[in-house]
Amino acid sequence: MAHKLVIIGSGPAGWTAAIYAARAQLDPVVYVGVPKQTPSIVLPGGQLMLTTEVENYPGFPNGVTGPEMMEMFQKQAERFGTRVVHADIASCDFGTPEKPRRPFVLKTDDGNGKSETIEAHAVIIATGAVANWIGLPNEMRLARQGGGVSACAVCDGALPAFRNQPLAVVGGGDTAMEEATYLTKFGSTVYIIHRRDSLRASKVMQQRFLSKPNAKVLWNKVVVDVLGEDHIEAVMLQDTVTKERSRLDVRGLFVAIGHTPATGFLQGTGLKFNDKGYVHLDHRHSATNIEGVFAAGDVADAEYRQAITAAGMGCQAALDAERWLGKMGMV
Ligand code: NAP
Repeated sequence: MAHKLVIIGSGPAGWTAAIYAARAQLDPVVYVGVPKQTPSIVLPGGQLMLTTEVENYPGFPNGVTGPEMMEMFQKQAERFGTRVVHADIASCDFGTPEKPRRPFVLKTDDGNGKSETIEAHAVIIATGAVANWIGLPNEMRLARQGGGVSACAVCDGALPAFRNQPLAVVGGGDTAMEEATYLTKFGSTVYIIHRRDSLRASKVMQQRFLSKPNAKVLWNKVVVDVLGEDHIEAVMLQDTVTKERSRLDVRGLFVAIGHTPATGFLQGTGLKFNDKGYVHLDHRHSATNIEGVFAAGDVADAEYRQAITAAGMGCQAALDAERWLGKMGMV
């Protein structure tokens, strides 16, 4: 029998959609995904699983760790009857935008070679976006253990470990400028490490960073190693022109070289993406170009990428799905 609603993804958007959908008696099933280490770290619970302290989510005056927060979201969703399945959705048959398949057909993958075919009247895609990493073994190790390597300065930058310490941001785009500008409030010196001799970021964002007294740009440099056992102590840099290597002592490294939305399993489904590869949504709604398919959170948002905005989008998607299922006479 077809599920009324399948939610793909288990970050703030997925769990919030589940809380709303379960309370609306849509009997949601959440496919939380299976953990992966390569090419990027992907965990059920999403990007927050790689965040130590979350201090900017309202309602937690003393902060909360990302994993704790996701556990609470999940418990709240389960309390109202959400079913949780530890598998990926590997592919979807939505029919076409002109003639959507009813119900939709999805294939699961439990990571151990076991696959199932399931049906759903409505689907919410909440698979998030994965921060791009340089891909160095020590970078990933320290990121996983909360050792001062992060892909989100807004999430982690205000932690005490970074106060009055030298910090570095890798990247030359708007995100790198935004993160580095934010970090100038806390760090002693904030270095931008950029692989070229000019920044990709908009002039206004560049200026905002460069006007800070503790801002510094290291041109034509790439990070070739991250040094430190429990916590980052330094990065090894290589000059892209002279090939010379140098050591830079830092207590925090923030990688800001773009994000990749988790949409691989949606290719060829007829779903519309924007020019950056994120799921295209109409205006403020969560509806995609295929009726009955909704999207929420970072998979459809290249701009804000915050737990609170993702949760808000999850709520919208559940309400939109409920209204649509009602209109179709499914609930
Ligand atoms: P982006 O514009 O794609 O910039 C990525 C940066 O990372 C580039 O400077 C790139 O270098 C560098 N990079 C990529 N791969 C690298 C690697 N392997 N090693 C070292 N450096 C690498 O991404 P973004 O900054 O995240 O911005 C994404 C979008 O969001 C943009 O459209 C941006 O304008 C927008 N955004 C806007 C705001 C705002 O207006 N407030 C804030 C944040 C983001 P190259 O320059 O050499 O390619």
